[in-house]
Amino acid sequence: MQTITRKRKLRSFQPLWTTTRKVQIAAQQRIPANIVDVLIVGAGIGGALMALSLAKQNLTILVVDRRQPVQGSTLASTAMIQHEIDVPLHRLTAMVGQAKARRAWQRSARAVETLTSLVDNLGICCHLERKKSLYLAGNTYGARALKAEAAARDKAGISAVFLNATQLRENFGLERTAAIEAAISASANPAQLTAGLWRKAQAEGVAIVEDTEITDIRSLHDWNAAATSKGEIIQARHVVFCTGYEFLDAVANQEHRIVSTWALATKPHHPRPNWLKDYVVWEGSDPYLYIRSTADGRIIVGGEDEEDPTAHQDSVKLSSKSRTLRAKLSALLKIPIAEPAYQWAAAFGVAADGLPIIGPVPALKNVYAVMGYGGNGITYSQIAAEIVSSAILGHQDPDSELFAFR
Ligand SMILES: Cc1cc2nc3c(=O)[nH]c(=O)nc-3n(C[C@H](O)[C@H](O)[C@H](O)COP(=O)(O)OP(=O)(O)OC[C@H]3O[C@@H](n4cnc5c(N)ncnc54)[C@H](O)[C@@H]3O)c2cc1C
Repeated sequence: MQTITRKRKLRSFQPLWTTTRKVQIAAQQRIPANIVDVLIVGAGIGGALMALSLAKQNLTILVVDRRQPVQGSTLASTAMIQHEIDVPLHRLTAMVGQAKARRAWQRSARAVETLTSLVDNLGICCHLERKKSLYLAGNTYGARALKAEAAARDKAGISAVFLNATQLRENFGLERTAAIEAAISASANPAQLTAGLWRKAQAEGVAIVEDTEITDIRSLHDWNAAATSKGEIIQARHVVFCTGYEFLDAVANQEHRIVSTWALATKPHHPRPNWLKDYVVWEGSDPYLYIRSTADGRIIVGGEDEEDPTAHQDSVKLSSKSRTLRAKLSALLKIPIAEPAYQWAAAFGVAADGLPIIGPVPALKNVYAVMGYGGNGITYSQIAAEIVSSAILGHQDPDSELFAFR
C-alpha cells in the first residue's frame, strides 16, 4: 500500500509505561466528517499538544493515527522534560551563531515552563514533578567545556551553576571532573501525560480516529486532500504531520537520522541517593547515560545509542545493553542496581544541531511537519504547538525561521 510516512517498528520489548493506568483513549474507527479546518496526523505527545493549542479556536479538528493513540514513540519515552538541548549552548553558538543559539536555548526554557504550567492548570494526573538537572562532564565535554558552557548560559540569562570535582563529590557523592547544575526541568509519565491531553482535547470537540493511515496528500488551491488507508478523502484547510520518527518522505534530509536507543527501569523503592528524587541527570559523553527516578522510587536509566536504526529489535542486544546501563549506573551512584523490572529499546531521532525542524512542508500549501528530534522531543513538541498554531491562526511566531526546514 502507498504511504507518505514510512512505517517503522518504533519500539521493542516492554517500556515501563505500558502497564500504567489511564493511558487508553476512546478513539473512533471511521472519520466523522470529510471536511475539516485542521487535520493532525499522529496521536502521540506532538499531536496532543498541537490539538490542544488549536482547540477553543472555533476550528474543526480531526486527528488520525495509523496506530492507537499514545502507542508510538511516546510510550517508550523516558520523559525527562528538559530545556537543556543536546548540543550545548557554547557549541551551538559555534554552529549557528550566538543570536540563534541563545534564542533556541531561551525558547526551550520557556517551553518547559509553559508545558509544566499547562499540565498543572489542566489538572492532568501524570506524576509531573519539577526537577533540577545535573549535567556531568564526560568523554565529549570535560570540565573546561562545562565551564565555558556555564558562562555561555549565564550570559544568555539561563541560570546554570558550574560545580568543580570537589563540589560535585561533596554535594552529590559523584566522581566526575565537573558538572552543571540547573533549574527548569521536570519528569512525568509520558503516556499518562499524553492521554490526559487527549482527553482534554476531546472535551473541546477534537475527534480522534485510530487505525487509519494518511497515505497521500495533494494541495488544491487553498485546500488539501488527504487520502486514508480506508479509502476516504479528507478535505482539510491545514494539515499538520506530528508523526515523530515516521517522518514525511518529502522532508528526509542529511540533518536528521534515526538510530537505536535503550532504557531500563528498576522496581519501585529501589535504593537511591536522596538527592536523585529532585534531579534529572545526563552527561556530556558518547555514548551517553541519562538518569531519572519516579515518584514511587524507581530509577530509570537510558542511553547507549547505536547508529543502526533496527538494532533496538535485537533481544540479545537488549540484554547486553541492559547490563552495560546497570553497570554504568552502579559505578556512578556507587550502589548495586538490582535486576530491572522493565527493559526496552526504541528507534530514536537525532539532529546534527540538536534543534527541532518545525514548519511548512516545501511544495505543499498549509501543510506543516514537526520533527522534534533528540533528547528534548517533549519540549520540542510544545514549541511546535506554539509555532504551528500561530501560523494556522494567521500570526507569525518570532522563532519560526529559527526552526524552519534547513
Ligand atoms: C527511549 C526514548 C527515550 C526518550 N526520552 C526522552 C526524554 O527523556 N525527554 C524527551 O523530551 N524526549 C524523549 N524522547 C523523545 C520523545 O519521546 C519523542 O520525541 C516523542 O515522544 C515523539 O512524540 P510524537 O508524538 O512526535 O511521536 P509518536 O509518539 O511516535 O506519535 C506519532 C504518531 O504518528 C503516527 N503516524 C505516523 N505516520 C502516520 C500516517 N501516515 N498516518 C497516520 N498516522 C501516522 C504513528 O502511528 C504515531 O502514533 C525519547 C524517545 C525514546 C524513544
